[in-house]
Amino acid sequence: MTRAIEIGLVACESCELVMRAADPITGTCPRCGERIDRRKPNSLGRPLAFLIAAAALYVPANTLPIMVTEQFPLHRTDTILSGIAFLWSEGSWLLAALVFSASVLVPMLKLAAMGVLLFTSARRSSWRPRGRTKLYRVLETVGHWSMLDVMVVALLAAVVQLGRFASIEPGPALIPFAGVVLMTMLASASFDPRAIWDHVGPRSVHERE
Ligand SMILES: [Zn+2]
Repeated sequence: MTRAIEIGLVACESCELVMRAADPITGTCPRCGERIDRRKPNSLGRPLAFLIAAAALYVPANTLPIMVTEQFPLHRTDTILSGIAFLWSEGSWLLAALVFSASVLVPMLKLAAMGVLLFTSARRSSWRPRGRTKLYRVLETVGHWSMLDVMVVALLAAVVQLGRFASIEPGPALIPFAGVVLMTMLASASFDPRAIWDHVGPRSVHERE
């Protein structure tokens, strides 16, 4: 296996033109004008910074109230978890499971997956490069649906209670929660999956997974 970088070739990330080098003056793709990098700049430091920000925001996202519901004389403030517990206790198991996956499980798995990718890249690991590339693809695909997490939390739990509560307002946790989603998205976007293969010897391509 020969990597493009070894024989001086680079592909445009936007139009996929393969070339010897970017336009020497502008550093851009001669066909579409996209900036050409052999690897994304600082492809470990940047995603790591975004990942740390996401992990830090995960705390207020889960401890601050995500919604405040009111119907005189009832007044409830719910965190994500207490909201899920409430749905569960009310017998809305499916909805509780849905909100749990969208707002707790998926964001946590995304953080963990990004952590694994960064940790193995920082260690210059040659461990399961195909698996890690696949993991990155899944992360990117899930990322396209990311704002859905926020919508689910903001709307779904509210909609189900609409019948019984006069007023439902989103709580302060919604902002850090959206921050978690955004930071995770930026982390995976600034990571360069090509770096996974930089420390993999030619033999590893024949590995079985
Ligand atoms: Zn191009």
